[in-house]
Amino acid sequence: MTSKLDFSILKTLTQLPGISGREGQVRDYLKNLLAPAADEVRTDALGNLILTKKGTSDKTLLLCAHMDEVGLMVQFIDERGFLRFVTVGGIDPRTLLAQRVRVQTQNGPLLGIIGTKPAHITTEAERGKAVPLKDLFIDVGLPAEEVKKRVSPGDWAVLDRPYEEFGNGLISAKAIDNRAGVFIQAELFKNLKNPFYNVYAVFTVQEEVGVRGATTAAFGVDADVCLCLDTTGAADIPGVAPQDYIVRLGGGVGISALDARTITPQPLFDALTQICREKQIAYQVRIAQRGGNDAGAVHLSKTGVPSCALSLPTRNIHSNVEVCAKPDVQAMFDLALCCAQQGIVF
Ligand SMILES: [Zn+2]
Repeated sequence: MTSKLDFSILKTLTQLPGISGREGQVRDYLKNLLAPAADEVRTDALGNLILTKKGTSDKTLLLCAHMDEVGLMVQFIDERGFLRFVTVGGIDPRTLLAQRVRVQTQNGPLLGIIGTKPAHITTEAERGKAVPLKDLFIDVGLPAEEVKKRVSPGDWAVLDRPYEEFGNGLISAKAIDNRAGVFIQAELFKNLKNPFYNVYAVFTVQEEVGVRGATTAAFGVDADVCLCLDTTGAADIPGVAPQDYIVRLGGGVGISALDARTITPQPLFDALTQICREKQIAYQVRIAQRGGNDAGAVHLSKTGVPSCALSLPTRNIHSNVEVCAKPDVQAMFDLALCCAQQGIVF
């Protein structure tokens, strides 16, 4: 049943810019890639891309993978041309220091550097301390008049970091959250052959700012069951106790039992773990006391939709050095494809 995944598509997806509410380039890429495999393609008012494929039953599966990544928006350009910015989505300012970004302007992207005072001139009080967001700035390396011509408040920026494979089957890039989920959903959609379900594959917008796209997308589909394909923080790192790992990198697909927004119904949870055991797909139970994903919106839609987040373990989540493991990507793909293709009995 295992299909070979084309990781060059994941590489391309991670490098496309698309913060919450600015997902157009990701959407266009997916539309071109997947339209030939779809019975119907449409984009809704919020920008969710919705692809459908007819199934052999009268049941409907909603798949959600959010296209947006966390990023920055230019708030103000100072008299010397330095950009002040706000964050879009949950970024820890500690991860922004000394990073490169790509500022997306009307006339294309500009490289920017998030600067800070060098160690040589910090005061005793500042040394070793986190720099608050208000003290960070982006330097695009141009004279102030030129910056004001080329950049406007409301322009946005993504973190800049190439896709690299390293170690034992690991990948590091920006935007693995959630281009990895998008990648799995795209590959899955291409691989559907007379699926059991009528499949709605929705590539959602604005998840990182409060599952906004999924809220409207779910309303537009009468789903019998929903799977959300997203990343989740793998906290299996030094300084964290094992009970707080959430999931482990390389431990297989995370099947969400509980997070801050959703509790997976027991029958659905049991059916998903049962499929993994039968098909020998590596899985682990995800329990996250904080955080949520598109399932949080979908399961509350209309009269309620049984929903579960399939979660890809990702270290350093919401930074530009997010890390995931290829075998986990494969396990998540295998489980999601099996569900769509053969149905989930619950
Ligand atoms: Zn995510």
